[in-house]
Order: sequence, then C-alpha cells, then structure tokens
Amino acid sequence: MTPPSLMRKMLRIMIDEERCINCNMCIKVCQKGTLQRIEGKEKPQVVRGDLCMLCLSCIFSCPTGAIRVFFSRS
Ligand code: SF4
Ligand code: SF4
Repeated sequence: MTPPSLMRKMLRIMIDEERCINCNMCIKVCQKGTLQRIEGKEKPQVVRGDLCMLCLSCIFSCPTGAIRVFFSRS
C-alpha cells in the first residue's frame, strides 16, 4: 500500500453531535452517501465510512464546525 492510500485508510470522518444543528448540509454535499440519517438517531451518522474519499466537502459545508477528520489505527 502506498503512503497516500495508507494515510487515507487511517483518516476518518466524525460528527460532533453536540455541535450539529441538523441542517443537513453535509448529507447534501456528500457524493458518496457516507453521511446519512438513521432511524432512532437525532443527528446524521457516518454510515459508509468505507466510501469516503476525504474530499472534505462536508467539513467546509458545515456551519458549526461539527465535522472533523481524525486519525485511527484500526
Ligand atoms: S469527506 Fe467527502 S466523501 Fe467523505 S463524508 Fe465528507 S463529503 Fe462525503
Ligand atoms: S452540516 Fe454540520 S450542522 Fe449540518 S447536519 Fe451536518 S454535521 Fe450537522
């Protein structure tokens, strides 16, 4: 695995539900269907993290800075 693809595999998107105001912008801009609504959850969820291409559109579209990228070893 090349270093860039390894880095991409280890970077994940997360939503800070405390900061989220439920505006749906992140769901609208995500072209991969990574962020979706799930029954029983009040805020959008990362449901297909494997499809995320780290375009960062959701991060730039979020009015409250609720979406972040974090580094995961798993
Ligand atoms: S970084 Fe891009 S592909 Fe990944 S969840 Fe955000 S908008 Fe979707
Ligand atoms: S764009 Fe930000 S505030 Fe709006 S629903 Fe998504 S995470 Fe919540």
